[in-house]
Amino acid sequence: MNAVDVVITEVGPRDGLQNTKSFMPTAAKKAWISAEAAAGVPAIEVCSFVPAKLIPQFVDAEEVLAHANSLRGLTPVVLVPNFKGCERALAAGAHRVMVPISVSEAHSMSNVRKTTAQAIEEFARMADLVKAQARDRRAQLVGACSTAFGCSLQGVVAEADVVRVALALRAAGADSISLADTVGYANPEQVKRLFRKVREAIGADFPIEAHFHNTRGLGLANALAAYEVGVRNFDSTLGGLGGCPFAPGASGNVVTEDLVFMFESMGVNTGIDLGKLIEVRRTAFAPLPDAELYGHISKAGLPKGFQPWSQAA
Ligand code: ZN
Repeated sequence: MNAVDVVITEVGPRDGLQNTKSFMPTAAKKAWISAEAAAGVPAIEVCSFVPAKLIPQFVDAEEVLAHANSLRGLTPVVLVPNFKGCERALAAGAHRVMVPISVSEAHSMSNVRKTTAQAIEEFARMADLVKAQARDRRAQLVGACSTAFGCSLQGVVAEADVVRVALALRAAGADSISLADTVGYANPEQVKRLFRKVREAIGADFPIEAHFHNTRGLGLANALAAYEVGVRNFDSTLGGLGGCPFAPGASGNVVTEDLVFMFESMGVNTGIDLGKLIEVRRTAFAPLPDAELYGHISKAGLPKGFQPWSQAA
């Protein structure tokens, strides 16, 4: 199989379900993850190791991760909000752990009741935990700069603060950095500027990923802008599942199938079978009747004569 040009991580089972009211049965979560993996999605963020009393949706985190770990060729990702969650995730066999750190102090205090500096200190302790693992099964640690493009509590987030947090996370032991537009404030110019700044500060070879929400309709434009400045790792959600707790009725993450369509029609290989992916969207959410879904390509259909990258001459 040809190497992919961009790596798309489906984050619906975590970011989407985190913002969905009803509980998705464990069997349905597993079926969804299996179906997307079978469509060629290389990485899926499958759950969050947050206390079940805070977010009951993730009461089955261990079981869902064990299932994802059993799927060949898939890289499962898990979110951990704190040290305790990291311990739980590693004990459950997590191979790739994503830790969100709010660049916005107001968001950090409201979300995890810690200052950004305290959250970075805790991240360093998680990195020590990971480093203590046997070399051949050491988990990867992703440091995600949340609210990197603005915050619904604080408003503007200084770009210098984002660069500072990104550098601190690398220094603390992150294997890669993600810049997250947590509340959907970003615009394409800002995306290019901020990714360039972080890239310049952090070095040419250090992995940097993008996490965009489509809250204000600029998700795809922002993903394209990030691609144009060299970003090759993107998070997205099938059907744009999820919403924004601060903006009722607003859509969730960038829509996976639309993102795949954009890249494939540009000749950028995602490794994902778009037809199969659209089929997954039709079946995966049946057990979640109140799920609000978004996106275009699943409704409009593929253009006549459309050739995905994988089938192009
Ligand atoms: Zn998100």
